Amino acid sequence: MTVAMDIAINKAESSKLQDLNLDNLPFGRYFSDHMLEADYENGEWKNIEIKPYQPLLMSPSLAALHYGQAIFEGVKAYKDQNGNAFIFRPQDNFRRFNISAERMQMPVVPEELFMEGMKKLVGLDRNWIPSKPDHSLYIRPFMFSSDELIGVRPSDNYKFMIILSPTGPYYGAPMRIYVEEKYSRAASGGVGYAKAAGNYGAAMLATAEAKKKGYDQVLWMDASEHKYVQEIGTMNVFFIIGNTAITPDLSQETILEGVTRQSAITLLKEMGYQVEERTLSIDEIIAAYKDGSLKEVFGTGTAATVTMIRELRYKDFVMEFDTDKWKACPTVKSWLTDIREGRREDRYGWMWAV
Ligand SMILES: *Cc1c(COP(=O)(O)O)cnc(C)c1O
Repeated sequence: MTVAMDIAINKAESSKLQDLNLDNLPFGRYFSDHMLEADYENGEWKNIEIKPYQPLLMSPSLAALHYGQAIFEGVKAYKDQNGNAFIFRPQDNFRRFNISAERMQMPVVPEELFMEGMKKLVGLDRNWIPSKPDHSLYIRPFMFSSDELIGVRPSDNYKFMIILSPTGPYYGAPMRIYVEEKYSRAASGGVGYAKAAGNYGAAMLATAEAKKKGYDQVLWMDASEHKYVQEIGTMNVFFIIGNTAITPDLSQETILEGVTRQSAITLLKEMGYQVEERTLSIDEIIAAYKDGSLKEVFGTGTAATVTMIRELRYKDFVMEFDTDKWKACPTVKSWLTDIREGRREDRYGWMWAV
């Protein structure tokens, strides 16, 4: 049964938009006029309100700050040629959000609150969706425990919020990647498949050390043997070997199931590639590089869409790629961008009208 939810709307007196040029904004720094806020208390969601973007007042004992019950999502809204607003595959983010919530012992967020709340908020701030090519409005739903009590146990109270940030093109220059052998991101039985805040804090040391060595990001390997590939930073990873696209499978629950990953799998199949979701070892990658069958390596994620990898370093072995000759990765990127901006037919029903 779905209970109709009242979403109160309290509009900002004036818009901050006049002071801002929506072209080429850096990622995640500017926020729109409104935000959605809801409280989970005594087993139900209440105080659901869209209101002017503003700071939160919180107690130093706020549970999320101490024990990390905090999850989030990343979604994007676009405008087509006629100025109509669309959100890309938000249902998939909604499903994943509640999978993360369950893993972190947090309450389910009802579909109506997540989807209708997002639609109403984006609708209200639709002028914040940039209309230039490669620009979008980044949507950040998140939830955190809000008991004011330091005790290690699931909170009784939570806050669910959505904020919006206009963003310019992500100039994802081809990256140099360090194959990580010391640190790990996710082990079987852990929280790798959840978009839980702590996963990102835990990854920062490895990334910082890779940067000191001159690399942009790490390629995470399995936690027990450091032999099988998982993800690149916060992106899923694809390897084109011959006419086959290979991406790690989800069976160990160590990999975040990206919406962009799923979209890339669909488009690669449409392009005629064989797609395999399976275990892939660094030894197999090196062998394919040596015999010339490893054609392309790229990462996928909402922020950058698709990012080329121009170098992979494993121990002292360096694999370099001439990204100018690539086909799969640039085609996935342009098809996805064209679908999102209304220049290519949306044959899979990915665009959700606001
Ligand atoms: C968010 C995320 C991705 C990409 O997911 P998308 O839904 O494509 O944005 C991949 N890996 C990690 C670890 C992530 O947090």
